[in-house]
Amino acid sequence: MPTMRVAQVSQANAPFEIVEREIPEPGAGQVRIKVQACGVCHSDSFTKEGLWPGIVFPRVPGHEVIGTIDAIGYGVAGWTPGEPVGVGWHGGHCGYCHPCRHGDSFACATSTLVTGITHDGGYAEYMVAPAESVAHAPPGLTPAEVAPLMCAGVTTFNALRNSGAGPGDVVAVLGIGGLGHLGVQYARKLGFRTVAIDRRQQKAPLAAQLGADHYIDSTAGDPAAELQKLGGAKAILATATSGEAMAAVQDGLAPNGTLMVIGAVPSLAADTLFLLQGRRSIKGWYAGIASDSEDTLRFSQSSGVQSMNEVYPLSRVNEAYERMMSGDARFRVVLTMD
Ligand SMILES: [Zn+2]
Ligand SMILES: [Zn+2]
Repeated sequence: MPTMRVAQVSQANAPFEIVEREIPEPGAGQVRIKVQACGVCHSDSFTKEGLWPGIVFPRVPGHEVIGTIDAIGYGVAGWTPGEPVGVGWHGGHCGYCHPCRHGDSFACATSTLVTGITHDGGYAEYMVAPAESVAHAPPGLTPAEVAPLMCAGVTTFNALRNSGAGPGDVVAVLGIGGLGHLGVQYARKLGFRTVAIDRRQQKAPLAAQLGADHYIDSTAGDPAAELQKLGGAKAILATATSGEAMAAVQDGLAPNGTLMVIGAVPSLAADTLFLLQGRRSIKGWYAGIASDSEDTLRFSQSSGVQSMNEVYPLSRVNEAYERMMSGDARFRVVLTMD
């Protein structure tokens, strides 16, 4: 029996263990992917720490997967063995529930499938995935460079392009880290007048390098007032992990502006009078489905948006995960299977 190496978590908070497993066969509606690289995302802690309701161990995390089609299951059309593909957080959908039938398959009510949580993900040499969760990747990508685009990339790109802002509008990115360093690049390439906001002045040179037109040090004064000096933001992409930081910038929205929340925080205090007076809104945004990931990969390739990564071999998965959790990585951590 041919085998593969996977990095699995055998129980909540246990270290990763590298084990040999039989290479799985794709079932009906599934494809098998030969994984080349997989990003290490903070949301992998749902698996590592056993935080996802009903999670079953052992489990292989990983939802920033880049690889090639290796085998095709029964009833699957549209894929060619060897073609480059990616898999993200969205792990599949039923196609027949109410949201799916209304074009909102991201919110499938039947099978809330999440790659690396409800089924094994990409910390492995091979993985099996529902075909509808797989994205076609354009040729010519370097897997270890683009893997984070399958979660951090699609989350920021898709939120920005659905924010209501158009070319020339002021758009702010709050938090210049794993998500924000991509958000600033996308905002610039989408034609927005791009404002980067972070604590301290030291991120200013990086923000400029990523394409920001303006930088606001949120500790130096009132970041909302600084945004209003620029005319107010049509959109603010909130990547920060603090509800207070998000609340502190909301008054920087222009009339009809939207605070796009892509980071989960325990609570967020809304300035309701300010919202209603200016018809402003606060909106959550889900990363995206496979077609959104395809758009993200193509847009990133053609516009030159690049994730800044620290790359580790699969055998050093524990070190890679700790590095990601430390918050000190610049900016994403990626595992390679070679
Ligand atoms: Zn993620
Ligand atoms: Zn559904």
